[in-house]
Amino acid sequence: MQRFVTAVMRHETNTFSPVPTPLEAFSGRGADRGGPLAGEAAILQCRGTNTPAAAYIDLAEAAGAELVMAVSGSAHPSGCAEDAVIDYFADAVIDTLQPGCDALFLDLHGGMATVGIDDPEGELLARIRGAAPDLPIAVAFDFHSNISALTVDNATVITGYRTYPHVDMYETGSRAGKTLLRSLAGEVNPAMVWRQLPMLTHLNCQTPSRQPMKDIMDRAIQAEAEAEVLNASVFGCFPLADISCVGLSSIIVCDRNTAGGAALLDELLGMAWDRRDAFIFTTEPVEVSIAHAKSLGSGPIILADHGDVCGSGGTQDVMAVLAEVMRQGLTNVCAGPYFDPIVVAELVAAGVGAEVTLALGGRMDMPAIGLKGEPLEISGRVRRITDGRFTITGPMMTGVMVDMGRTVVLDTGEVEIVISEQRHEPFDVGCFTHAGIDPARKDYILIKSRQHFRAGFDAITERVVMVSGPGITTSDYEKFPWQKLRRPIHPLDLVNTNEL
Ligand SMILES: [Zn+2]
Repeated sequence: MQRFVTAVMRHETNTFSPVPTPLEAFSGRGADRGGPLAGEAAILQCRGTNTPAAAYIDLAEAAGAELVMAVSGSAHPSGCAEDAVIDYFADAVIDTLQPGCDALFLDLHGGMATVGIDDPEGELLARIRGAAPDLPIAVAFDFHSNISALTVDNATVITGYRTYPHVDMYETGSRAGKTLLRSLAGEVNPAMVWRQLPMLTHLNCQTPSRQPMKDIMDRAIQAEAEAEVLNASVFGCFPLADISCVGLSSIIVCDRNTAGGAALLDELLGMAWDRRDAFIFTTEPVEVSIAHAKSLGSGPIILADHGDVCGSGGTQDVMAVLAEVMRQGLTNVCAGPYFDPIVVAELVAAGVGAEVTLALGGRMDMPAIGLKGEPLEISGRVRRITDGRFTITGPMMTGVMVDMGRTVVLDTGEVEIVISEQRHEPFDVGCFTHAGIDPARKDYILIKSRQHFRAGFDAITERVVMVSGPGITTSDYEKFPWQKLRRPIHPLDLVNTNEL
Protein backbone atom coordinates (compact mmCIF):
# COMPACT_ATOMS: atom_id res chain seq x y z
CA MET A 1 0.00 0.00 0.00
CA GLN A 2 1.31 3.45 -0.90
CA ARG A 3 1.80 5.92 1.94
CA PHE A 4 1.07 9.56 1.14
CA VAL A 5 1.61 12.57 3.38
CA THR A 6 -0.26 15.87 3.14
CA ALA A 7 0.01 19.21 4.94
CA VAL A 8 -1.69 22.61 4.94
CA MET A 9 0.17 25.86 5.65
CA ARG A 10 -1.72 28.94 4.64
CA HIS A 11 -1.10 32.58 5.42
CA GLU A 12 -1.23 35.65 3.24
CA THR A 13 1.20 38.11 4.78
CA ASN A 14 0.81 41.85 4.39
CA THR A 15 4.30 42.78 5.55
CA PHE A 16 3.09 46.32 6.38
CA SER A 17 0.24 45.15 8.62
CA PRO A 18 0.45 45.80 12.37
CA VAL A 19 -1.73 42.74 13.10
CA PRO A 20 0.51 40.07 14.73
CA THR A 21 0.66 36.43 13.52
CA PRO A 22 1.77 33.99 16.23
CA LEU A 23 1.79 30.22 15.69
CA GLU A 24 -1.53 29.96 17.57
CA ALA A 25 -3.17 31.98 14.77
CA PHE A 26 -2.71 28.95 12.48
CA SER A 27 -5.75 27.37 14.03
CA GLY A 28 -7.07 25.56 11.00
CA ARG A 29 -10.19 26.37 9.06
CA GLY A 30 -13.32 26.79 11.07
CA ALA A 31 -14.07 27.51 14.65
CA ASP A 32 -11.06 26.04 16.45
CA ARG A 33 -8.53 28.43 17.93
CA GLY A 34 -5.92 26.10 19.36
CA GLY A 35 -3.15 26.35 16.76
CA PRO A 36 -2.48 23.89 13.92
CA LEU A 37 -4.13 20.47 13.88
CA ALA A 38 -2.70 17.14 12.75
CA GLY A 39 -3.78 13.58 11.98
CA GLU A 40 -7.40 12.52 11.96
CA ALA A 41 -8.65 15.77 13.52
CA ALA A 42 -7.14 17.73 10.63
CA ILE A 43 -8.51 15.33 8.02
CA LEU A 44 -11.96 15.58 9.58
CA GLN A 45 -11.76 19.37 9.39
CA CYS A 46 -10.68 19.43 5.72
CA ARG A 47 -12.74 16.58 4.26
CA GLY A 48 -15.66 17.68 2.11
CA THR A 49 -14.61 21.34 1.93
CA ASN A 50 -13.74 23.35 -1.17
CA THR A 51 -9.99 23.17 -0.50
CA PRO A 52 -6.92 21.52 -2.06
CA ALA A 53 -6.52 19.37 1.06
CA ALA A 54 -9.99 17.91 0.54
CA ALA A 55 -9.05 16.97 -3.02
CA TYR A 56 -5.88 15.25 -1.78
CA ILE A 57 -7.94 13.26 0.73
CA ASP A 58 -10.31 12.11 -2.01
CA LEU A 59 -7.49 11.26 -4.44
CA ALA A 60 -5.66 9.18 -1.84
CA GLU A 61 -8.85 7.28 -0.99
CA ALA A 62 -9.59 6.63 -4.64
CA ALA A 63 -6.02 5.37 -5.12
CA GLY A 64 -6.38 3.04 -2.14
CA ALA A 65 -3.41 4.71 -0.47
CA GLU A 66 -2.83 5.56 3.17
CA LEU A 67 -2.92 9.33 3.72
CA VAL A 68 -1.38 10.95 6.81
CA MET A 69 -2.00 14.61 7.57
CA ALA A 70 1.28 15.89 9.03
CA VAL A 71 -0.03 19.31 10.03
CA SER A 72 -2.82 21.67 9.03
CA GLY A 73 -2.86 25.34 9.87
CA SER A 74 -4.42 28.41 8.28
CA ALA A 75 -4.04 31.88 9.71
CA HIS A 76 -6.14 34.88 8.79
CA PRO A 77 -4.17 37.36 6.63
CA SER A 78 -2.13 39.70 8.83
CA GLY A 79 1.42 40.91 9.40
CA CYS A 80 4.61 38.82 9.28
CA ALA A 81 4.30 35.45 11.02
CA GLU A 82 6.71 34.65 13.82
CA ASP A 83 9.76 32.67 12.66
CA ALA A 84 8.85 29.68 14.86
CA VAL A 85 5.97 28.99 12.46
CA ILE A 86 8.21 27.72 9.68
CA ASP A 87 10.19 25.47 12.05
CA TYR A 88 6.94 24.02 13.37
CA PHE A 89 5.50 23.18 9.95
CA ALA A 90 8.76 21.94 8.42
CA ASP A 91 9.54 19.71 11.41
CA ALA A 92 6.00 18.29 11.41
CA VAL A 93 6.18 17.37 7.72
CA ILE A 94 9.71 15.95 7.87
CA ASP A 95 8.92 13.87 10.98
CA THR A 96 5.82 12.45 9.29
CA LEU A 97 7.87 11.38 6.24
CA GLN A 98 10.09 9.21 8.42
CA PRO A 99 8.36 5.78 8.27
CA GLY A 100 8.56 6.10 4.49
CA CYS A 101 6.52 8.15 2.06
CA ASP A 102 5.65 7.70 -1.63
CA ALA A 103 4.46 11.26 -2.31
CA LEU A 104 3.77 14.55 -0.54
CA PHE A 105 0.77 16.74 -1.31
CA LEU A 106 0.94 20.32 -0.02
CA ASP A 107 -1.83 22.90 0.30
CA LEU A 108 0.05 26.21 0.68
CA HIS A 109 -0.90 29.82 0.23
CA GLY A 110 2.38 30.99 -1.27
CA GLY A 111 2.02 34.60 -0.16
CA MET A 112 3.52 34.18 3.29
CA ALA A 113 6.45 35.92 4.98
CA THR A 114 7.83 35.57 8.49
CA VAL A 115 9.71 38.20 10.45
CA GLY A 116 13.07 36.79 9.38
CA ILE A 117 12.24 34.73 6.27
CA ASP A 118 10.89 36.43 3.15
CA ASP A 119 10.06 33.18 1.35
CA PRO A 120 8.84 30.63 3.91
CA GLU A 121 7.19 28.35 1.33
CA GLY A 122 10.49 28.11 -0.56
CA GLU A 123 12.25 27.51 2.76
CA LEU A 124 9.72 24.79 3.70
CA LEU A 125 10.16 23.01 0.37
CA ALA A 126 13.97 23.29 0.50
CA ARG A 127 14.05 21.76 4.00
CA ILE A 128 11.76 18.92 2.91
CA ARG A 129 13.84 18.36 -0.20
CA GLY A 130 16.95 18.28 1.97
CA ALA A 131 15.43 15.53 4.11
CA ALA A 132 13.90 13.56 1.22
CA PRO A 133 15.82 14.31 -2.01
CA ASP A 134 13.77 12.06 -4.34
CA LEU A 135 10.30 12.59 -2.88
CA PRO A 136 7.62 13.55 -5.46
CA ILE A 137 5.95 16.74 -4.19
CA ALA A 138 2.73 18.34 -5.47
CA VAL A 139 1.80 21.85 -4.37
CA ALA A 140 -1.45 23.76 -4.80
CA PHE A 141 -1.01 27.51 -4.34
CA ASP A 142 -3.34 30.46 -3.99
CA PHE A 143 -3.73 32.78 -6.98
CA HIS A 144 -1.96 35.41 -4.81
CA SER A 145 1.18 33.37 -4.41
CA ASN A 146 4.52 35.17 -4.79
CA ILE A 147 6.52 32.44 -6.53
CA SER A 148 10.29 32.06 -6.06
CA ALA A 149 13.02 29.99 -7.71
CA LEU A 150 13.55 28.19 -4.38
CA THR A 151 9.91 27.07 -4.48
CA VAL A 152 9.93 25.80 -8.06
CA ASP A 153 13.35 24.13 -7.70
CA ASN A 154 12.13 22.04 -4.77
CA ALA A 155 8.73 20.84 -5.99
CA THR A 156 7.64 18.34 -8.67
CA VAL A 157 4.25 19.72 -9.70
CA ILE A 158 2.73 23.14 -8.91
CA THR A 159 -0.75 24.45 -9.69
CA GLY A 160 -2.55 27.65 -8.70
CA TYR A 161 -6.13 28.79 -8.26
CA ARG A 162 -7.60 30.19 -11.47
CA THR A 163 -10.36 32.23 -9.84
CA TYR A 164 -10.62 35.31 -7.63
CA PRO A 165 -12.86 35.13 -5.58
CA HIS A 166 -11.31 31.73 -5.04
CA VAL A 167 -13.95 29.13 -5.81
CA ASP A 168 -11.72 26.48 -7.43
CA MET A 169 -9.55 25.46 -4.49
CA TYR A 170 -10.61 21.81 -4.57
CA GLU A 171 -10.06 21.70 -8.33
CA THR A 172 -6.58 23.20 -7.92
CA GLY A 173 -5.60 20.45 -5.48
CA SER A 174 -7.12 17.90 -7.79
CA ARG A 175 -5.10 19.23 -10.78
CA ALA A 176 -1.79 19.04 -8.91
CA GLY A 177 -2.60 15.73 -7.24
CA LYS A 178 -3.69 13.99 -10.43
CA THR A 179 -0.54 15.00 -12.30
CA LEU A 180 1.61 13.70 -9.46
CA LEU A 181 -0.33 10.40 -9.36
CA ARG A 182 0.15 10.02 -13.11
CA SER A 183 3.85 10.57 -12.55
CA LEU A 184 3.93 7.89 -9.82
CA ALA A 185 2.21 5.52 -12.24
CA GLY A 186 4.91 6.19 -14.82
CA GLU A 187 2.50 7.80 -17.31
CA VAL A 188 4.19 11.20 -17.34
CA ASN A 189 7.46 12.77 -16.29
CA PRO A 190 6.75 16.32 -15.04
CA ALA A 191 9.18 19.17 -15.61
CA MET A 192 8.39 22.79 -14.79
CA VAL A 193 9.22 26.06 -16.48
CA TRP A 194 8.35 29.37 -14.88
CA ARG A 195 9.12 33.08 -14.80
CA GLN A 196 8.11 36.15 -12.86
CA LEU A 197 7.60 39.59 -14.36
CA PRO A 198 8.85 42.76 -12.64
CA MET A 199 5.26 43.85 -12.35
CA LEU A 200 2.90 44.54 -9.46
CA THR A 201 -0.75 44.03 -10.29
CA HIS A 202 -3.41 45.85 -8.30
CA LEU A 203 -5.65 43.50 -6.37
CA ASN A 204 -8.70 45.30 -7.79
CA CYS A 205 -7.63 44.64 -11.39
CA GLN A 206 -6.26 41.10 -11.43
CA THR A 207 -9.32 38.83 -11.24
CA PRO A 208 -9.32 36.18 -13.98
CA SER A 209 -13.06 36.67 -14.50
CA ARG A 210 -12.46 40.09 -16.11
CA GLN A 211 -9.94 41.74 -18.38
CA PRO A 212 -7.03 42.32 -18.48
CA MET A 213 -6.42 38.92 -16.82
CA LYS A 214 -9.29 37.00 -18.41
CA ASP A 215 -7.66 36.31 -21.79
CA ILE A 216 -4.42 35.30 -20.12
CA MET A 217 -6.02 32.85 -17.71
CA ASP A 218 -8.39 31.54 -20.37
CA ARG A 219 -5.39 30.71 -22.56
CA ALA A 220 -3.73 28.84 -19.66
CA ILE A 221 -6.94 26.93 -18.97
CA GLN A 222 -7.28 26.02 -22.65
CA ALA A 223 -3.68 24.77 -22.86
CA GLU A 224 -4.25 22.47 -19.89
CA ALA A 225 -7.69 21.32 -21.05
CA GLU A 226 -6.38 20.45 -24.50
CA ALA A 227 -3.35 18.65 -23.01
CA GLU A 228 -0.79 20.96 -24.64
CA VAL A 229 0.89 20.79 -21.24
CA LEU A 230 0.16 18.93 -18.00
CA ASN A 231 -0.73 22.03 -15.98
CA ALA A 232 -0.67 25.75 -16.67
CA SER A 233 -1.09 28.34 -13.91
CA VAL A 234 -0.90 32.12 -13.74
CA PHE A 235 -0.38 33.86 -10.40
CA GLY A 236 -1.64 37.41 -9.98
CA CYS A 237 0.77 37.93 -7.03
CA PHE A 238 0.11 39.46 -3.62
CA PRO A 239 1.48 42.96 -3.97
CA LEU A 240 1.28 44.11 -0.33
CA ALA A 241 4.54 42.37 0.54
CA ASP A 242 7.90 44.08 0.80
CA ILE A 243 9.95 41.08 -0.32
CA SER A 244 12.00 40.45 -3.44
CA CYS A 245 9.93 37.69 -5.09
CA VAL A 246 6.75 39.72 -5.74
CA GLY A 247 5.21 39.91 -9.18
CA LEU A 248 2.88 38.32 -11.67
CA SER A 249 4.23 34.90 -12.61
CA SER A 250 3.34 31.71 -14.42
CA ILE A 251 4.31 28.07 -13.93
CA ILE A 252 3.90 25.48 -16.68
CA VAL A 253 4.16 21.77 -15.86
CA CYS A 254 5.36 19.93 -18.97
CA ASP A 255 5.70 16.24 -19.76
CA ARG A 256 9.44 15.64 -20.26
CA ASN A 257 10.02 18.06 -23.13
CA THR A 258 9.74 21.67 -21.94
CA ALA A 259 9.88 23.40 -25.35
CA GLY A 260 6.10 23.67 -25.72
CA GLY A 261 5.75 24.84 -22.12
CA ALA A 262 8.41 27.50 -22.60
CA ALA A 263 6.57 28.84 -25.65
CA LEU A 264 3.30 28.93 -23.70
CA LEU A 265 5.06 30.70 -20.82
CA ASP A 266 6.36 33.37 -23.21
CA GLU A 267 2.89 33.76 -24.69
CA LEU A 268 1.14 34.17 -21.32
CA LEU A 269 3.71 36.54 -19.83
CA GLY A 270 3.94 38.47 -23.08
CA MET A 271 0.20 39.12 -22.93
CA ALA A 272 0.47 40.23 -19.29
CA TRP A 273 3.37 42.58 -19.96
CA ASP A 274 1.66 44.13 -22.99
CA ARG A 275 -1.37 44.84 -20.80
CA ARG A 276 0.61 46.02 -17.78
CA ASP A 277 -1.04 49.43 -17.55
CA ALA A 278 -4.49 47.82 -17.39
CA PHE A 279 -3.47 46.20 -14.09
CA ILE A 280 -3.21 49.64 -12.44
CA PHE A 281 -6.08 50.83 -10.23
CA THR A 282 -6.60 54.56 -9.88
CA THR A 283 -7.98 55.71 -6.53
CA GLU A 284 -10.42 58.58 -5.91
CA PRO A 285 -11.27 60.45 -2.69
CA VAL A 286 -13.73 58.68 -0.34
CA GLU A 287 -16.19 61.60 -0.36
CA VAL A 288 -16.38 61.46 -4.17
CA SER A 289 -17.15 57.72 -4.17
CA ILE A 290 -19.85 58.07 -1.48
CA ALA A 291 -21.47 61.02 -3.27
CA HIS A 292 -21.50 58.97 -6.45
CA ALA A 293 -23.15 56.05 -4.62
CA LYS A 294 -25.74 58.43 -3.17
CA SER A 295 -26.61 59.66 -6.65
CA LEU A 296 -27.33 56.14 -7.90
CA GLY A 297 -30.65 55.87 -6.06
CA SER A 298 -32.11 52.68 -4.65
CA GLY A 299 -30.07 49.58 -4.15
CA PRO A 300 -28.85 47.35 -2.95
CA ILE A 301 -25.53 49.01 -3.81
CA ILE A 302 -22.32 47.55 -2.48
CA LEU A 303 -19.85 50.04 -1.07
CA ALA A 304 -16.59 48.08 -1.16
CA ASP A 305 -14.10 49.74 1.19
CA HIS A 306 -10.92 48.11 -0.09
CA GLY A 307 -8.30 50.05 1.87
CA ASP A 308 -8.88 48.09 5.09
CA VAL A 309 -9.59 44.50 4.06
CA CYS A 310 -8.77 42.01 6.80
CA GLY A 311 -8.57 39.36 4.08
CA SER A 312 -5.34 41.11 3.02
CA GLY A 313 -4.03 42.04 6.46
CA GLY A 314 -6.26 45.04 7.27
CA THR A 315 -7.11 45.92 10.86
CA GLN A 316 -10.81 46.01 9.94
CA ASP A 317 -11.42 48.88 12.31
CA VAL A 318 -10.67 51.95 10.16
CA MET A 319 -13.87 53.99 10.48
CA ALA A 320 -13.35 56.70 7.83
CA VAL A 321 -15.75 55.33 5.20
CA LEU A 322 -18.59 54.71 7.68
CA ALA A 323 -18.02 58.23 9.01
CA GLU A 324 -18.40 59.61 5.48
CA VAL A 325 -21.52 57.50 4.80
CA MET A 326 -23.10 58.96 7.95
CA ARG A 327 -21.92 62.50 7.16
CA GLN A 328 -23.52 62.38 3.71
CA GLY A 329 -26.73 60.99 5.22
CA LEU A 330 -27.10 57.68 3.38
CA THR A 331 -30.02 55.68 4.78
CA ASN A 332 -31.16 52.05 4.93
CA VAL A 333 -27.54 50.89 5.25
CA CYS A 334 -26.00 47.77 6.71
CA ALA A 335 -22.29 47.90 7.48
CA GLY A 336 -19.62 45.59 8.76
CA PRO A 337 -18.40 43.44 10.23
CA TYR A 338 -16.12 45.82 12.15
CA PHE A 339 -13.53 44.34 14.47
CA ASP A 340 -13.77 45.73 17.99
CA PRO A 341 -13.81 43.18 20.83
CA ILE A 342 -13.85 45.93 23.47
CA VAL A 343 -17.02 47.47 22.08
CA VAL A 344 -18.59 44.01 21.71
CA ALA A 345 -17.99 43.39 25.43
CA GLU A 346 -19.52 46.78 26.29
CA LEU A 347 -22.59 46.15 24.14
CA VAL A 348 -23.10 42.60 25.41
CA ALA A 349 -22.97 43.99 28.95
CA ALA A 350 -25.46 46.73 28.01
CA GLY A 351 -27.84 44.11 26.56
CA VAL A 352 -30.36 44.01 23.70
CA GLY A 353 -32.48 47.17 23.57
CA ALA A 354 -29.94 49.38 25.37
CA GLU A 355 -29.33 52.88 24.00
CA VAL A 356 -25.62 53.61 23.91
CA THR A 357 -23.08 56.19 22.78
CA LEU A 358 -19.55 54.91 22.30
CA ALA A 359 -16.28 55.16 20.37
CA LEU A 360 -16.10 52.41 17.75
CA GLY A 361 -12.94 51.04 16.11
CA GLY A 362 -9.73 52.90 15.32
CA ARG A 363 -7.78 50.94 17.91
CA MET A 364 -4.67 50.19 15.89
CA ASP A 365 -2.09 52.56 14.44
CA MET A 366 -0.44 51.72 11.13
CA PRO A 367 3.07 53.15 11.50
CA ALA A 368 4.20 51.70 8.13
CA ILE A 369 2.01 54.23 6.32
CA GLY A 370 1.87 56.88 9.06
CA LEU A 371 -1.84 56.33 9.79
CA LYS A 372 -3.13 56.69 13.35
CA GLY A 373 -6.15 54.78 14.58
CA GLU A 374 -9.18 57.05 14.94
CA PRO A 375 -12.37 55.83 16.65
CA LEU A 376 -15.81 57.01 15.48
CA GLU A 377 -18.33 58.22 18.05
CA ILE A 378 -21.65 56.51 17.43
CA SER A 379 -25.02 56.47 19.15
CA GLY A 380 -27.54 53.71 18.65
CA ARG A 381 -29.56 50.85 20.07
CA VAL A 382 -28.29 47.30 20.60
CA ARG A 383 -30.51 45.37 18.22
CA ARG A 384 -29.12 41.83 18.45
CA ILE A 385 -26.35 39.75 20.05
CA THR A 386 -25.14 36.51 18.40
CA ASP A 387 -22.37 33.94 18.83
CA GLY A 388 -21.05 35.02 15.40
CA ARG A 389 -21.20 31.50 14.00
CA PHE A 390 -22.63 30.55 10.64
CA THR A 391 -22.02 28.02 7.87
CA ILE A 392 -21.06 29.43 4.47
CA THR A 393 -23.74 28.83 1.83
CA GLY A 394 -22.13 30.83 -1.00
CA PRO A 395 -19.66 29.48 -3.56
CA MET A 396 -16.45 30.43 -1.75
CA MET A 397 -15.42 27.90 0.96
CA THR A 398 -18.89 26.41 0.85
CA GLY A 399 -19.81 24.46 3.96
CA VAL A 400 -17.04 25.90 6.13
CA MET A 401 -18.09 27.14 9.56
CA VAL A 402 -17.23 30.77 10.22
CA ASP A 403 -16.72 31.98 13.77
CA MET A 404 -16.65 35.78 14.11
CA GLY A 405 -16.74 35.52 17.91
CA ARG A 406 -19.48 37.28 19.82
CA THR A 407 -21.18 39.67 17.44
CA VAL A 408 -23.49 42.63 18.03
CA VAL A 409 -25.79 44.63 15.76
CA LEU A 410 -25.83 48.32 16.70
CA ASP A 411 -28.66 50.23 15.00
CA THR A 412 -28.27 53.99 14.53
CA GLY A 413 -31.63 54.28 12.76
CA GLU A 414 -29.98 54.78 9.37
CA VAL A 415 -27.23 52.17 9.63
CA GLU A 416 -27.26 48.67 11.11
CA ILE A 417 -23.63 48.09 12.12
CA VAL A 418 -22.28 44.58 12.69
CA ILE A 419 -19.41 44.50 15.21
CA SER A 420 -17.52 41.32 16.00
CA GLU A 421 -14.82 39.91 18.28
CA GLN A 422 -12.83 38.32 15.45
CA ARG A 423 -11.76 39.68 12.07
CA HIS A 424 -13.72 38.29 9.13
CA GLU A 425 -13.84 39.44 5.49
CA PRO A 426 -17.46 39.45 4.29
CA PHE A 427 -17.47 37.08 1.32
CA ASP A 428 -20.74 35.43 2.29
CA VAL A 429 -24.08 37.04 3.21
CA GLY A 430 -24.08 34.92 6.37
CA CYS A 431 -22.15 37.58 8.25
CA PHE A 432 -25.31 39.70 8.03
CA THR A 433 -28.12 37.14 7.75
CA HIS A 434 -27.03 35.15 10.80
CA ALA A 435 -27.59 38.38 12.76
CA GLY A 436 -31.08 38.93 11.38
CA ILE A 437 -30.11 41.47 8.68
CA ASP A 438 -31.21 40.82 5.10
CA PRO A 439 -28.70 42.74 2.95
CA ALA A 440 -30.92 42.27 -0.13
CA ARG A 441 -33.43 44.66 1.47
CA LYS A 442 -30.88 47.40 2.14
CA ASP A 443 -30.11 50.31 -0.18
CA TYR A 444 -26.42 50.23 0.75
CA ILE A 445 -24.21 47.40 1.94
CA LEU A 446 -20.93 48.80 3.30
CA ILE A 447 -18.30 46.08 3.52
CA LYS A 448 -14.53 45.86 3.81
CA SER A 449 -13.64 43.69 0.83
CA ARG A 450 -12.30 44.25 -2.68
CA GLN A 451 -13.14 41.11 -4.62
CA HIS A 452 -14.09 38.16 -2.44
CA PHE A 453 -17.45 39.76 -1.62
CA ARG A 454 -18.52 39.05 -5.18
CA ALA A 455 -18.72 35.34 -4.30
CA GLY A 456 -21.57 35.81 -1.86
CA PHE A 457 -23.06 39.18 -2.78
CA ASP A 458 -23.19 39.16 -6.59
CA ALA A 459 -26.46 37.25 -6.42
CA ILE A 460 -28.22 40.13 -4.63
CA THR A 461 -26.71 43.08 -6.46
CA GLU A 462 -24.72 44.02 -9.53
CA ARG A 463 -24.14 47.58 -8.43
CA VAL A 464 -20.76 48.08 -6.82
CA VAL A 465 -18.99 51.29 -5.88
CA MET A 466 -15.31 50.78 -5.07
CA VAL A 467 -14.30 53.04 -2.18
CA SER A 468 -10.60 53.74 -1.60
CA GLY A 469 -10.76 54.13 2.18
CA PRO A 470 -7.59 54.57 4.22
CA GLY A 471 -5.86 51.52 5.73
CA ILE A 472 -3.01 49.06 5.39
CA THR A 473 -4.49 47.44 2.27
CA THR A 474 -4.59 50.74 0.38
CA SER A 475 -4.45 50.55 -3.41
CA ASP A 476 -2.13 53.57 -3.45
CA TYR A 477 1.18 51.68 -3.54
CA GLU A 478 3.16 54.91 -3.37
CA LYS A 479 2.13 55.07 0.31
CA PHE A 480 4.22 52.04 1.27
CA PRO A 481 7.84 52.37 2.49
CA TRP A 482 9.27 49.73 0.11
CA GLN A 483 12.76 48.49 1.03
CA LYS A 484 13.21 44.89 -0.15
CA LEU A 485 10.97 44.91 -3.21
CA ARG A 486 12.75 44.05 -6.46
CA ARG A 487 13.39 47.25 -8.43
CA PRO A 488 12.75 48.42 -10.99
CA ILE A 489 9.17 47.18 -10.93
CA HIS A 490 6.08 48.30 -12.82
CA PRO A 491 4.19 50.55 -12.09
CA LEU A 492 6.41 52.13 -9.42
CA ASP A 493 9.35 52.45 -11.82
CA LEU A 494 9.94 52.66 -15.50
CA VAL A 495 10.95 49.14 -16.59
CA ASN A 496 12.74 48.72 -19.89
CA THR A 497 10.94 46.01 -21.88
CA ASN A 498 14.24 44.95 -23.47
CA GLU A 499 15.56 43.93 -20.05
CA LEU A 500 12.81 41.40 -19.28
ZN1 LIG B 1 -5.86 34.79 -2.59
